[in-house]
Amino acid sequence: MRREVPLRRSLLVRLLAVSVLVSIGSIAATAWLTARSTTVAIRQEQGRALADDARVYDTLLGYAATHHDWDDAGDLVRRLAADTGRRITLTTEQRTPLLDSDAEPRTAALPSRPSAVVDPLSADATPGHIDPRAVGPYRLTRKERDDLRATAQRRALCLRRTFGVDAQVTESPNGRPALTTGGAQPYPETRCPSPVLEQPTTTERRALAALEKVTGTCLKRKGEPAVRVNPDFTWTREPAPVAPGAPRTTASTGGTVSTCLAAARREQLGPYVAPPALLFISSRGGGVSTGFDLSPANQARIAGVAALVLLFTVTATVVAGTRLSRPLRELTEAVRRTEQGGAPRVEVKGRDEIAHLAAAFNAMAERREQLEHLRKAMVSDVAHELRTPLSTIRGWLEATEDGVVAPDRELISSLLEEALLLQHIIDDLQDLAMAEAGELRLRREPVEVADLLAQVATAHRAGAEQAGVTLRTRADGGLRAFADPVRLRQAAGNLVSNAVRHTPHGGAVTLHARRDGDHLLIDVADTGTGIAPADLPLVFERFWRVEKSRNRRTGGSGLGLPIARKLVEAHGGTLSATSTPGRGSIFTIRLPAGVCGEEQG
Ligand code: ADP
Repeated sequence: MRREVPLRRSLLVRLLAVSVLVSIGSIAATAWLTARSTTVAIRQEQGRALADDARVYDTLLGYAATHHDWDDAGDLVRRLAADTGRRITLTTEQRTPLLDSDAEPRTAALPSRPSAVVDPLSADATPGHIDPRAVGPYRLTRKERDDLRATAQRRALCLRRTFGVDAQVTESPNGRPALTTGGAQPYPETRCPSPVLEQPTTTERRALAALEKVTGTCLKRKGEPAVRVNPDFTWTREPAPVAPGAPRTTASTGGTVSTCLAAARREQLGPYVAPPALLFISSRGGGVSTGFDLSPANQARIAGVAALVLLFTVTATVVAGTRLSRPLRELTEAVRRTEQGGAPRVEVKGRDEIAHLAAAFNAMAERREQLEHLRKAMVSDVAHELRTPLSTIRGWLEATEDGVVAPDRELISSLLEEALLLQHIIDDLQDLAMAEAGELRLRREPVEVADLLAQVATAHRAGAEQAGVTLRTRADGGLRAFADPVRLRQAAGNLVSNAVRHTPHGGAVTLHARRDGDHLLIDVADTGTGIAPADLPLVFERFWRVEKSRNRRTGGSGLGLPIARKLVEAHGGTLSATSTPGRGSIFTIRLPAGVCGEEQG
């Protein structure tokens, strides 16, 4: 088939373009929305996870600072795991499993880097930073603690009473009470004095002495003089005895002292704290929690899914578009064949809009075929109708010209009769054309139906008498119609003329006007030949005749009934017929309410 629709105007291509655009739009919108909401969710989740991780680390660090091994940490680890919904694993620095919140340990699956190292003597990944909760031998005895607490409370009371200071007693990790005053409140230190609070207890002094000793040993090894260690683990150098005359050794060795002191502290606290452990925090039942993974593999997967969606859209659109455009192409082809004079039909598939269009096309093609048939028949009939009287006229005139026939009175009246027949056919055709074009103008006025029937009968009485047919009229009393009397007479006259022509000698034709509810009925009944049931619906077709031959007696134009029906329909009424072959026919004009009325008075 010759392609007449440019490709870019093709239904299929446009459908394809629209659906590809729609799918790209929806994929992009969905991806954007998903990415946005996922990013927000991941950020929140990561924030929560970080806070949870920090809490787990800090709790385990606290445990390690106050216990000399990990043996009793099982419950704590499981509780933390249950609280945070994470899996918590502790191993030694050599990765020997120590504790695992899940039932079966899985060292093999542990990642290369631990989440943190739990070491109270090197806390927060800062070398030398000792967790303050690691107090070891500095923990006060119960008595010392109670004594100091009582002193602290007395001082707090004194401060409150004397200065109105809101002093609270708190306790540091080794049990030493301290006073907090909630901000800097100026009050003399000399009031409410409690010097015992600032002084180290026996336990602390003993531990500090031991620390000093170990630090001293370290310093000595490095050729440094010993130092004094304060309760807050700062240090002060004791004035070195300088031998007279000896070179003064200036110790610019603060770093060495700090190193030795830190080492000594670690050595001193070591037996009291749990050994360093590697902490692994991972998501439950799977790999280590790593957050949002938009790796190249995942990006490729997303792109692949998008491409699949696109491919599916394109395939579905092509299939749907082809199914949609095929019947349209068939219809176009059928219309084209119709234009070339054919009468094609298209196949009606399904019950969708296109199927309806195909059915409507088929109906239109059928109607067109009928009209074409009718048009041809009409042209041939009109030609035939006009040819007969014309041939007669021409024959007579030629014979007169040749001198065969004398142009006498009889000839002239015969020629006139033929001319009248021609005139009659042409008038009928004109009436019918006007009626069909809706151009028939009615001049309505009140009409006495009985008078109208009488006029029609009078017009046909001579013809009826000549044919030996009795013509009778009968009208129910006081019937009136609001109608065009000329057109109504013409319609009834056509019926009477037919009835007289088809009624044999001795028969009767009756015109009867009656009322039926709101309707006015005019029956034209005859005792004539009747019409076969198969022919009855056809008698109202143009040029249709039961007797195909035209003779002077029965041969009308075949336009009488179609014209009568059009005239009645112009009044808003109907014209119908019933007939019994051999017994006669009844043609009934039915006019609606408004057209008919009752005579007043
Ligand atoms: P025509 O001019 O031939 O009468 P009509 O349209 O008036 O054309 O009628 C069509 C045909 O219907 C007639 O040719 C005739 O065969 C049939 N017909 C009409 N009226 C009667 C009737 N009263 N009795 C029998 N046949 C009739």
